[in-house]
Amino acid sequence: MAARRRRRRRRRINPGFLGLCAALVLLAVGIGLWWVNRPLPGEDIAVPDYVERDYLLINEFSRPGTPLEEINAVVIHYVGNPGTTAKANRDYFNTLALGREGTYASSHFVVGLEGEVIQCIPLTEVAYASKHRNGDTVAIEVCHPDDTGEFSPETYARVVELTAWLCREFRLDPAEDVIRHYDVTGKECPRWYVANPEDWETLKLDVAAEVEKLASVENS
Ligand SMILES: [Zn+2]
Repeated sequence: MAARRRRRRRRRINPGFLGLCAALVLLAVGIGLWWVNRPLPGEDIAVPDYVERDYLLINEFSRPGTPLEEINAVVIHYVGNPGTTAKANRDYFNTLALGREGTYASSHFVVGLEGEVIQCIPLTEVAYASKHRNGDTVAIEVCHPDDTGEFSPETYARVVELTAWLCREFRLDPAEDVIRHYDVTGKECPRWYVANPEDWETLKLDVAAEVEKLASVENS
């Protein structure tokens, strides 16, 4: 008697329970579809006029084509090869595709000695620049005239401008989200701004001021 009542009760609960299951499955499918099709943060972003796009060929060594799912910081590097141009560094990344050196390296942007900027990798794909932060950061490699790694005034101004634009575009805080390669791996990169932490603080303040300027220009 008790068993039959239990069975009857279970039978009565079943339709609602099945409905709930169906709703949950539909919800899961919906979330799954949204997740698969969600836009990447760097999708449909128009870069500033001073950026020349010269993308690397897709290859396993410098442009793996892996989606950049999140953008949580900008990582600043120095090329470590004094006097070389943005183009030379971009071309170096491209020749890594041949695999002769077995080196994995690249960067989204390279800022040159005269402030020219080459974009090597779309903002929707990862670059090989910052180890475990490749998956959620944008990389900027910076050219420098000599071994100290200090940026020229033209280069410095452009790094500030480009970094500020990225901060504004991806809602990043210059004080927290603009970092050095050194902050990720302890590598002496960018050399001058590792050796001179006060100059690094100044650079971030300059980026913050530039973000304000971009905002006021846009709002005027
Ligand atoms: Zn670096």
